[in-house]
Amino acid sequence: MHQQLEEQLAIYLKVPYLNLFCNGMAALQTALNCLRVSGEVITTPFTFVATSHSISLHGSTPVFCDIDPETLNIDASKIEALITDKTSAIMPVHVYGRPCDTEAIEAIARRYKLQVIYDGAHAFGIEQNGDSILTKGDLTTLSFHATKVFNTLEGGAIVSNDVETKTRIDQLKNFGILNEEQTVNIAGNGKMNEFQAAFGLMQLKSVDEQILKRQLIAQAYTQAFTNVKGLRLPTEIASVKANYGYYPILVESSFPLSRDQLYDYLKVNSVHARKYFSPLVSEFSPYRHLRSAQPDNLPIASAAAASVLCLPIFPELGRRQQLVIDLVHQVAEE
Ligand SMILES: *Cc1c(COP(=O)(O)O)cnc(C)c1O
Repeated sequence: MHQQLEEQLAIYLKVPYLNLFCNGMAALQTALNCLRVSGEVITTPFTFVATSHSISLHGSTPVFCDIDPETLNIDASKIEALITDKTSAIMPVHVYGRPCDTEAIEAIARRYKLQVIYDGAHAFGIEQNGDSILTKGDLTTLSFHATKVFNTLEGGAIVSNDVETKTRIDQLKNFGILNEEQTVNIAGNGKMNEFQAAFGLMQLKSVDEQILKRQLIAQAYTQAFTNVKGLRLPTEIASVKANYGYYPILVESSFPLSRDQLYDYLKVNSVHARKYFSPLVSEFSPYRHLRSAQPDNLPIASAAAASVLCLPIFPELGRRQQLVIDLVHQVAEE
C-alpha cells in the first residue's frame, strides 16, 4: 500500500518522484539530511514551528527573513542581505498554499550556490500556470497531518526530481540501510506505515470533492465579507490552482474590533478560529535570542501576525458556516 500510494500520489500531484513519510517533520529533517545542509538556513518566521525546528534539530541555525505583505511568504528581495559565508540553504514556505516567488528565490540560490527546500506542508496539489509548484527548488516536503487538505492522520512526503535522489531518500528514511550487508548513512526511521498508506489511498478517492467543498466555503466567505470595512480577504490568483486549505483574513485597524477581540467574540460563540501564525516562530523562547529574530528585522511579519485570523474551513462545515458569517456581520460596519 505504501508503494501504491507513492505511485498514485506522484501521478495525482504531477511530480516525477515522491517518498512517503510518517509525518511532515520527518520529511523536513530527511530533506536537510539528504542535501547535507550545514551552517545557516534562511527561512520565514511566519510559519508553523516545525519549519525552523527541523533546521535546529539538524544542527543548523535558522536565519529569519521578513515576509511579503501581499503573499505573506518569504520576501525574496530581502534574502540576499542575510546571506553570509555560513549560509548553505533557503527554506521558504508556501504559506496557505500560495506560491512563493520561486523564480526570484531560485535565481538567488543559483547565484550563491545555495540549496532550496520548500516546506510545502500547505501546498498539496497547488499548480501555477498548469504546473505543480512541488517540483520547484531542490526538494519540497508535504504534510499529511489530519489538519491538512489531504491527510493520512499523520503523514508526509518529499518530492524530488530525479531517481538518484528518490533512491537516496528511500535509504535515509530507513536508518540509512542500503542492503542486508551495508548501512551507508546515519539516519532515522521516517517510514509511513501501512495503515497510514491505506487511509491515504481511501482519501485520495475523495480529495477532489473535498477541495471543491472547501472552494465553495471560501467563495461564500468572500461574497459575505466583500463589503465589510477593515477585513482584508484572501484573493484568488488566476494562474494558480488553489486547494483552499485555509481562509486567512487580516483584521485591519478600521475594523471595529481588534483581531484578538474578534477571535474572543467568535470563541465565546463556539466558533474556533485560529491565529495562524501568531506568535511568530521568531518570538518563541528557543529562537528569540537570535539576531535575525529581532522584531525590527521583521516588521511585515510582526504586523501580519498581529492581524491575521484563519476562519473555519473544512469539507464538513456545511450550514454552520452561516453562524460564522452572522457573527462577523454582527460586529462589522458596512
Ligand atoms: C503541518 C506543518 C508541518 C508539520 O507537519 P507534521 O506532518 O505535523 O509533522 C510543517 N510545516 C508547516 C508549515 C505545517 O503547517
